Amino acid sequence: MATTLIKDGTIITASHSFAADLVIKDERIEQIGRNLLVKDVDREIDAAGKYIMPGGIDVHTHLDMPVGDFRSVDTFETGTIAAACGGTTTIIDYAAHEHGELMARGLETWHRRAEGRAVIDYGFHMTLSEFTERTLRDMEQMVNAGVSSFKVFTAYPGRMMLNDASILKILKRSEELGTLVCVHAENGHVIDVLIQEALESGNVAPKYHAITRPSKGEGEAVNRVITLAELAETHLYIVHVSCCEAVEHITRARLKGLPIYAETCPQYLFLSDEYYELPDFKGAKYVMSPPLRDKQHQDGIWHGIQNRMLQVVGTDHCPFHFHGQKDRNQDNFTQIPNGGPGIETRLSLLYTGGVCTGRISLNHFVDLVSTAPARLFGLYPKKGAVAPGSDADLMIVDPRKETVISAATHHSAVDYSLYEGMKVKGVPDCVFSRGKMIIDHGDFIGTPGDGQFIPRPPQSSFPDAD
Ligand SMILES: [Zn+2]
Repeated sequence: MATTLIKDGTIITASHSFAADLVIKDERIEQIGRNLLVKDVDREIDAAGKYIMPGGIDVHTHLDMPVGDFRSVDTFETGTIAAACGGTTTIIDYAAHEHGELMARGLETWHRRAEGRAVIDYGFHMTLSEFTERTLRDMEQMVNAGVSSFKVFTAYPGRMMLNDASILKILKRSEELGTLVCVHAENGHVIDVLIQEALESGNVAPKYHAITRPSKGEGEAVNRVITLAELAETHLYIVHVSCCEAVEHITRARLKGLPIYAETCPQYLFLSDEYYELPDFKGAKYVMSPPLRDKQHQDGIWHGIQNRMLQVVGTDHCPFHFHGQKDRNQDNFTQIPNGGPGIETRLSLLYTGGVCTGRISLNHFVDLVSTAPARLFGLYPKKGAVAPGSDADLMIVDPRKETVISAATHHSAVDYSLYEGMKVKGVPDCVFSRGKMIIDHGDFIGTPGDGQFIPRPPQSSFPDAD
């Protein structure tokens, strides 16, 4: 039995801020209140002037994932250490099955990658890489295995893309099962035509990655999947929203009362397509899908967040080295592995660009990075809450402390940062994972393998994340 008392902090939840002491007993939060009398305290932490918030929940990661000739360079060890250093205490990673492979086999592979390595708790979504006569049946098997969310693509024809008929059937099945379907919404056919035209014209530089994936194509796909969800009378979660068109369709749907949820990621709030023009092929660092957009889209996404049309900020963390991976073939932008790092910087970027600028409140910040994803993905109130009985997944943040983001000091295995040199606040001093301190004054002191798989049951009703 271990008892930790955190004294004199300000507790920030998704709805309230208040001064209180907090007692952790073993893995859980036991008590919250003023001037608590606690016996046999093993450790006391002075949190005066600091915020105590629920640990972040990143529901969009790709650790140790094979992509073509490469695999994303963070294992479940380096990736979750980086996550923890940034204040994230739970991830939901996208497991997948190969074409022709059973979902159950794909899930086993992901369990093997995470077990013994993860330093924080984790769950899995299952990516539906193809639609076969088994798909609808095997979705139930995933639910029984604790995987209650799925991902489908309207992009990458021939590899990942599903047609509207398959997506409609999956949405109906998901409604029966009480699961949530996550969609990568871009128009794959449009992109393929534009890519072919670009290559035929000799337009091979990284910036053509963005030019061939127009925001209108994302808007179209978002509108289409919203319509399919409406026809299936179910809810839907749209991943990595990057543009105004998508926000507009999501807003219209939500104002109609449809249960459409959406996520954006820091790269779409803080970076723009100007980065593709960097010299020496450095634009390749920013090649991800959807691509970075013209700056004007950033305001649209911020407004979507402020109006609570977008509920979640995830990362789509999928890092590849610049040297030897992203820069390997400089004659064809389609050969650049898609994805970038972000698992460590999600909270500090949103805190700095959202809370410090007055765009969002501290409570809204907590909702976006922790509570709303916990509620949508079946983790709440075990995770995403600062309340008696909840897991003691917590971070303590000194609001005065400033840090500079750099690949030289970050914890991901990747060889660059998208945000090199940016000054941020909101990097936690201390992080607890199920009651155990794993970050102490910025240093990782946890143990690979301590992270547990969190089975997520189906849900009979979905929250209005508002
Ligand atoms: Zn992704």
